[in-house]
Amino acid sequence: MQEKGTISIHTENIFPIIKKFLYSDHEIFLRELVSNAVDATQKIKRLATLGQYTGELGDTTIEVAFDKDKKTLTISDRGLGMTAEEIKKYINQIAFSGATEFVEKFKDAKDANEIIGKFGLGFYSAFMVAKTVEINTLSYQEGAQPARWTCDGSTEFEISEGDRKERGTEIILHINDDSEEFLDKWKLQGILDKYCKFLPVPIKFGTKTESVEDGVDDKGEKKWKSVEVDNFINTTAPIWTKSPSDLKDEDYLAFYKELYPMSEDPLFWIHLNVDYPFNLTGVLYFPKVKNDFEFQKNKIKLFSRQVFITDEVKDIVPEFLMLLHGVIDSPDIPLNVSRSFLQADGNVKKINNYITKKVADKLGELFKKDRKVYEEKWNDIGLFVKYGMISEDKFAEKGKDFTLLKNTKGELFTFPEYKEKVSAIQTDKEGNTIYLYATDADKQDSFIQSANKKDYDVLLMDSPIDSHFIQHVETKEEKTQLKRVDADVVDKLIQKEDSYENLLTEEQSTKVKEIFEKAINSQTYSVAVEGLSPEELPVTVTMDEFMRRMKDMAQMGGGM
Ligand code: ADP
Ligand code: MG
Repeated sequence: MQEKGTISIHTENIFPIIKKFLYSDHEIFLRELVSNAVDATQKIKRLATLGQYTGELGDTTIEVAFDKDKKTLTISDRGLGMTAEEIKKYINQIAFSGATEFVEKFKDAKDANEIIGKFGLGFYSAFMVAKTVEINTLSYQEGAQPARWTCDGSTEFEISEGDRKERGTEIILHINDDSEEFLDKWKLQGILDKYCKFLPVPIKFGTKTESVEDGVDDKGEKKWKSVEVDNFINTTAPIWTKSPSDLKDEDYLAFYKELYPMSEDPLFWIHLNVDYPFNLTGVLYFPKVKNDFEFQKNKIKLFSRQVFITDEVKDIVPEFLMLLHGVIDSPDIPLNVSRSFLQADGNVKKINNYITKKVADKLGELFKKDRKVYEEKWNDIGLFVKYGMISEDKFAEKGKDFTLLKNTKGELFTFPEYKEKVSAIQTDKEGNTIYLYATDADKQDSFIQSANKKDYDVLLMDSPIDSHFIQHVETKEEKTQLKRVDADVVDKLIQKEDSYENLLTEEQSTKVKEIFEKAINSQTYSVAVEGLSPEELPVTVTMDEFMRRMKDMAQMGGGM
């Protein structure tokens, strides 16, 4: 029995369009076919659990194999298989409707880039690399006949009796001439590593060489020999699918090393696990921050049911947490739609808020549980926390309880603690609390010392984000003014009784000041004569605070 037919589809030449517009993402065909094999395997297992399939499950390993001479690539599974009727229904109609939808969307999209790689084409993505695709399958159903389907990438297909003896499906791709790169062992291994490394069903790809012990030699030393063993490419139960109570620190650290082999250990991690109102699991790690920010961005991997999707997690992860590492897995993130749609998606916004809340809760918990450990990590996490305080109101609400201020002596304070510490002395006539800060502990050392001598404390604000953070503090902390320690500011601080003596008379001081001002002749700088002891700076020239902040911000370019 043989049957020919035409796939019901109105767009005649769908494949050239698919090929053209998915060119940058050709490799995803393998992800699509392997995940279909996984789906089919999980379905038969579920049927067995439900008692609707009573036969042997057997070894359900999925196999990926290629033949360079025949130019074929085969993905085979021991899943539930398909009958000829099911092929017609699921492949000819359903899978094609996805492809049709793709083309329809493409017709409307103003920017073709919007949909490239964002649209899951499923089974039909095989035609990006194959001139002919064959399906050879045997359904699990009793009395089912094996079926074979072939299609050469036109809308014509052919169904005939198959010869498969084992339950399951084999997809054979006859790779086209300009896609022969997909007949290369390392290329395929690389794609499988990228997309299929954590799929829940064992996947075998050829063999690999391993060293095994082989008895002992005459001197009693161990002997080794090389053997070929099956090359399984995946870990079927990655840690994010497990319950946190079943995991130890070592497990989290080992997983981190697996994801980022060259990285230092992370500072801590957060296990995400929510099933309402959306489904999401994952583990986020706080890395040791290096100065090279850009390099560290986009390290979070996004999965959907353990299939790798992308490491572009913008929108899903709040901007201030883009430096985090780890994985997020959610079947509820729409993947097959354009970027602008993603931004408008309600789930995406909810997920973003959830992650913000989780991170804030974890930081709060760490701070409460062991302040000493938290303080030790502050140098590394301070950047995230301050960035979060500035950019996310929801985070700032919680963050004010665990944001720390560091003074030039290296002591750390919460906001209330710091206010309490300095309130006795550092208050002006209007009752504002004055916070002094230094942006460079070395260059401003003499002013810091002068301020300290007058019993004023000085905060250290020397990280790239601090010029923005200072503004944040000024607007959020009531009746608080921040001033950078420089000669001008230090000069005006109220002196304590027993502080040092000025070696110059008032008249002398004014004279010296005039001489300097004349020489500098600039509005941007100001001169202060301290008349301190000879080993300290008697005269200082500083840039005005306002001008300096402007310059700082111009350098930062406003963006982080
Ligand atoms: P999706 O996986 O999103 O349903 P696909 O285009 O990838 O879309 O696949 C279409 C349908 O073809 C699947 O829903 C399934 O019914 C069937 N199918 C594809 N591959 C297999 C397979 N290996 N075993 C059994 N059925 C399959
Ligand atoms: Mg699919």
